[in-house]
Amino acid sequence: MDTNNKADNPVYSRSDQSVVNLTEEQWKTILPKNVYDVARNKGTERPYSSPLEDNYEIGTYYCAVCGNPLFRSDTKFESGCGWPSFYEPVSKSSIIYAADHAHGIDRTEVMCGRCKSHLGHVFNDGPPPTRLRYCINGVVLDFEKAQDAEKKYNAEQGGAKHDH
Ligand SMILES: [Zn+2]
Repeated sequence: MDTNNKADNPVYSRSDQSVVNLTEEQWKTILPKNVYDVARNKGTERPYSSPLEDNYEIGTYYCAVCGNPLFRSDTKFESGCGWPSFYEPVSKSSIIYAADHAHGIDRTEVMCGRCKSHLGHVFNDGPPPTRLRYCINGVVLDFEKAQDAEKKYNAEQGGAKHDH
C-alpha cells in the first residue's frame, strides 16, 4: 500500500507541523506522477481505484505528500461513492477549505492544512454526527495501522514494556 517513495521527499514528516511551501517545479521532482497529478494539479483518481476505498483497518490516514495526520479510521464510512470517505478530520487545522466552481458546479475543495495539496471535496450528505462527507483521493493518503505505530513507539522507547 506504500506507493510513495519518501526517501525522495524531504518534506515528509509525521511530527513536523511547519507549513510546507515549495514551487511546482520542486513538487514535480519530489512526488510520483500519480500523486503530483492529484495533489498539485487538482486531479481526481478513477473511482474504486484506491485500495484504501474499502480499507477498514484501525489506524490513521496521513497526507501522502507531507505526512500531516488527516483522518482516523473511526471516522471512515462506506459512502458508495468510489473514494475513501470520512465524516471528520483529525483536527480543525488538518484541512484547508476553498470554494470550487470548476465545471459549473459549486463544491468545497479540501486541501492539506500543512502542504496545501489538493485532497478532494467535502459534501453535506454524510452521516451523523457531522453530516459531512469528506470525499478524498486515496492516492494522496498514506495509511498506517494502529499496531504498526504502537510497535514503532515501543521500539523508540527502548523495547517492548508489555508482551502481547
Ligand atoms: Zn500535506
